[in-house]
Amino acid sequence: MSRNILLIYTGGTIGMKADFERNALIPVDFEHIFNEVPELKRIKCRLSIQSFKEPIDSSDMNPEIWVDLATRIENSYEKFDGFVILHGSDTMAYTASALSFMLENLDKPVILTGSQLPIGTLRTDGKENLITAIEIASSFRNDRPIVPEVAIYFEYRLYRGNRARKVDAEHFNAFETLNYPFLAEAGVSISYNEEVISKGNPGKKLVVLKKFSKDVVILKLFPGLNPHVVNSIVNIPGLKGILIESFGSGNAPSDKGILNSLDEAVKKGIVVLNITQCHGGSVFQKKYKNGQYLEEIGVIGGEDLTTEAAITKLMFLLGMMEDREEIKRKLKESLRGEMSDPL
Ligand code: ASP
Repeated sequence: MSRNILLIYTGGTIGMKADFERNALIPVDFEHIFNEVPELKRIKCRLSIQSFKEPIDSSDMNPEIWVDLATRIENSYEKFDGFVILHGSDTMAYTASALSFMLENLDKPVILTGSQLPIGTLRTDGKENLITAIEIASSFRNDRPIVPEVAIYFEYRLYRGNRARKVDAEHFNAFETLNYPFLAEAGVSISYNEEVISKGNPGKKLVVLKKFSKDVVILKLFPGLNPHVVNSIVNIPGLKGILIESFGSGNAPSDKGILNSLDEAVKKGIVVLNITQCHGGSVFQKKYKNGQYLEEIGVIGGEDLTTEAAITKLMFLLGMMEDREEIKRKLKESLRGEMSDPL
């Protein structure tokens, strides 16, 4: 059966061309992609295309555009069997995470892809990424989509979107999910790791949740961090959330100035979430004395969340809910498979 796939082009390298005057890459018209990939006309599914009027470099991505993307999916949800989003790789993991939180009860594939080299160039990785992403979005078994979740396809691998991070600015294999297995690997055929793919939400109605708070900050710890800086951050007017990127399994300096400021933040009702700077592994605040200080203050351990998933989850929960206790509870549970069960 031929499936209906909606392809949404947002911008990014995949659709870029060289501007020789400025010696930089600039976005081109989406039509360009069709000219560059005539193979798309031979693909088995029925492909419909939507393009951003002004394609963006994904470093210009923001919550308003996440809402626009989710609304496009909402408006076309019944008509299409799957969705492919072409997106710059720089912030793709943030968008994938944000979409996973917004699309409650998702039961269809939403596959993000892009490329490291523009699709028009000889050695581009864009063609394979695009064609295989479409194939994955249209893959069904027993009339059920094989990947009914938000995922990223890049360089022969399919990753859970809210587990992924961009780890390489040069090599084609730019993404990884150190704390979660690949969902699929593309070789001669696509081999799906079905045990770790979401089962979807058959029979449930898609609900699109569209609010984010921007009153958040990421505080990356480093040896020598000035307590005055932490104090200034805590006193930013209207601040609602702080994401700490701490050391190892969730440790922070025992410096009184830093801890007192974080204590003040929690007492003021700012939600403070702690994740590790390490790429793999998890926060366990009770393990070391320096982590226990954070636990005692009321900082929430973010388990093995990536920065991308943690900040979008914080923005999402602070946007959707008022009740701080409810937000803290939700931060401790996995909403869309973004984190493992607590240690
Ligand atoms: N700067 C580009 C972007 O994220 C890089 C890419 O597409 O991979 O939009």
